[in-house]
Amino acid sequence: MDKLSENAGLVKPEALKAEALEAPAPDLLSMGEKGLGAEIEKLGFPRYRAGQIWRQMLAGTSDFSEMTDLPLAMRQTLAERYVTGVPAIERRLISKIDGTRKYLFRCADGETIESALMEYRHGLTICVSTQVGCNMACAFCASGIGGKRRDLTAGEILGQVAAAQRDVGRRISGVVMMGIGEPLDNYDAVISFLGEITSSSNEKYGLCIGARHISLSTCGLCDKIERLAGERYEITLSISLHAADDETRRQLMPVAKRWSLDDLLSACRDYFNRTHRRISFEYTLVPGRNDSPSDAGKLAALLKRYMGARPFHVNLIPVNAVEGRFAAGSRASAARFAAGLTRLGVNATVRRTLGPDINASCGQLRRGAGE
Ligand code: SAH
Repeated sequence: MDKLSENAGLVKPEALKAEALEAPAPDLLSMGEKGLGAEIEKLGFPRYRAGQIWRQMLAGTSDFSEMTDLPLAMRQTLAERYVTGVPAIERRLISKIDGTRKYLFRCADGETIESALMEYRHGLTICVSTQVGCNMACAFCASGIGGKRRDLTAGEILGQVAAAQRDVGRRISGVVMMGIGEPLDNYDAVISFLGEITSSSNEKYGLCIGARHISLSTCGLCDKIERLAGERYEITLSISLHAADDETRRQLMPVAKRWSLDDLLSACRDYFNRTHRRISFEYTLVPGRNDSPSDAGKLAALLKRYMGARPFHVNLIPVNAVEGRFAAGSRASAARFAAGLTRLGVNATVRRTLGPDINASCGQLRRGAGE
């Protein structure tokens, strides 16, 4: 008898019942359209109702009470047993300079997450969160303060796209998983989200994004990078590198104590060999820690050593101030660092600052909301 069933035998039936009542309500968006159909039939409703519910959830409806094409009794039954998974907009900031929108979303259990909607020449791209908080504890990142509270469900990740698309009233054509959380620490939900958002069967509902327009950013969980390569999604992998030697990286990112730069860059090389997708390396410039000309030299040598002639790109980000931890980095020094890399034959750009007037760095809106 394993430990779980042994313990379960000791729990009185009443206690089990109480626990079941307190479990969070399942979200319908995570079930997929087919799964939802089966669930709706199980409740004794006709299957076509699932199509109506699915369509409205993908259109960004977070509340069953708004689904007025369903009979009232059905809306009530659904609300008693489930949540949609589409988070509700709690706050919205819109940049007066470039129209970038930052959302503070509230999930059904009251937890809050953030997304940012950015305008590029080719269309709208949303930056989504994958967890509530984060366990990775990178020194410069506000999302890690307070640790991870829970994983988001696949539905809650998809729901951010649906809710933002409804709010802005235009099609979103790109997704980056660079919001709060470490996507590869919530692997199954992220893979199931990818399956749903790239599914052509959702195109008729206005929510289908090609894998080539999706990026996943990771602090470098090497075992999961390897697994991801086997999924064969043509997404872009972004690696949060932030240092060109193990000692500096360990100081900035605890994950580097588990995996060395050798582990990480070998995993990146293998990822490219299997997927043929260009890798993007994120490098946050922290003044006095990783931004000297000699750091640029070390970085160029490191990437060339592992990537050879394989295509890759370095994205430089002047560090955003996190209260009490780091002062903001300057764009001028980032431009100098970029020029140094370019001279050494490495493709590098300084990331454009979007919505400078609402540029609370990621994680700070949520903290400001009283978390
Ligand atoms: N956990 C994932 C995705 C979320 S972070 C990852 O680590 O990649 C998204 C990007 O923003 C990462 O490259 C992260 O290192 C960077 N970032 C976090 N805090 C920052 C700050 N204060 N200034 C600049 N970039 C930051």
